[in-house]
Amino acid sequence: MLGGRIMTQTNKYLGLPMASGKSKVATFKDLQEKITKRVMGWKEKFISKAGREVLIKTVAQAIPTYAMSIFKLPKSMCDNINSLLAKYWWGQTKEERKIHWINWKKLCTQKKEGGMGFRDLHSFNLAMLSKQAWRLIHDTDSLFYKVYKARYFPNSSFMMANVGNNPSFVWRSLLAARDIIFRGSKWRVDEDARQWDRGKLDAMFSQRTREEILSIPLDHLQSQDTLVWIENAAQKFSVKTAYRVALRSSTQSWVEHSGAREDGPTWNKVWDLKVPPKVRMFLWRVVSNCLPTRDKLHQRRVNVDTRCEFCLHNTETVHHILWECPFAQNVWALFSGRTQKCSNVVSDFFLLFRQMRSKLSQQELEKWAVTAWAIWAARNKFYFQHYQTHPKVIADMVCGLLAEYQRFMDTQGQD
Ligand SMILES: [Zn+2]
Repeated sequence: MLGGRIMTQTNKYLGLPMASGKSKVATFKDLQEKITKRVMGWKEKFISKAGREVLIKTVAQAIPTYAMSIFKLPKSMCDNINSLLAKYWWGQTKEERKIHWINWKKLCTQKKEGGMGFRDLHSFNLAMLSKQAWRLIHDTDSLFYKVYKARYFPNSSFMMANVGNNPSFVWRSLLAARDIIFRGSKWRVDEDARQWDRGKLDAMFSQRTREEILSIPLDHLQSQDTLVWIENAAQKFSVKTAYRVALRSSTQSWVEHSGAREDGPTWNKVWDLKVPPKVRMFLWRVVSNCLPTRDKLHQRRVNVDTRCEFCLHNTETVHHILWECPFAQNVWALFSGRTQKCSNVVSDFFLLFRQMRSKLSQQELEKWAVTAWAIWAARNKFYFQHYQTHPKVIADMVCGLLAEYQRFMDTQGQD
């Protein structure tokens, strides 16, 4: 029996009794502590964002999927873990506050949607639960369905069920996922299903009884209709699409972020470039409009001089530091061809990148990206270590890095 086994396995998973009247928060504290310890143990303060991405994604694996598909984890726990990971991503340690340029929910969207593909625990939890809920609607032959139907909704459907008296934690968890089902599906009214089966009626009842039965309106019997998943073309429920629904419904705020563009091919291109991960990550930040230039810091109320430190003249915007500043110009001048001509006066880098993507070949685009990255790296070296790199050295580094990465990819047999 599913109901009984759930409890035993959970006891084993979390090492805490579920039925002892302990609060949910206390029950899951153990798990939260485990994860916190793990994240705190990541000492590599200067690890690249590409490295952080990998580490953050391992946390998702630390949580038993089984528990996630049966229990609704306390919202406070999800919030705490999300906040811990967000701080780690933006490089925040205990002593210092760091700007979170993009909010966590946005980072949790897929890469082709401009996010990092991190997992928002709360949304993922709801998606996993809604998979079970979906079974309670469609898989009516299963033992799982029969047990829950008898106990919680003998006279209605799962979608109509009430919480009832003395509900179990599992039942309340399943009901929490109902909202995802509501949002991700629609009722398909099956007109045929709305008719009484006249053949059967004729065979089983007398004329009078038949007439009585036929006079019963069927309109209110909604369970006759089929609930159809509308989040993918196949109309087939999946945790992946349910996760998207959960993420979407949990907040609207990330949509306001200026980099949140609905343009899969452009975002995919960022991640498809055959350049080192750190360059792709850099490009993602540029295109997401969250490179911490002086003007951006100023917008975030950080007390800084907004001028470019190279020319001490213009405001340091992304466009200025990567293209317009004489320092950057000197680097671009060392490359012949179309690459340098393409970076015109465009202040929106999502649009700029989209434009570059259509104008340049894959190779040119890769060189362009690595050059922009190298200029930014040289800028940081100058700003933070007061070391000025010669344009020729930057250009050589670009070629070296590209060649080295190319060789690496060849040995991996991926190119
Ligand atoms: Zn400048």
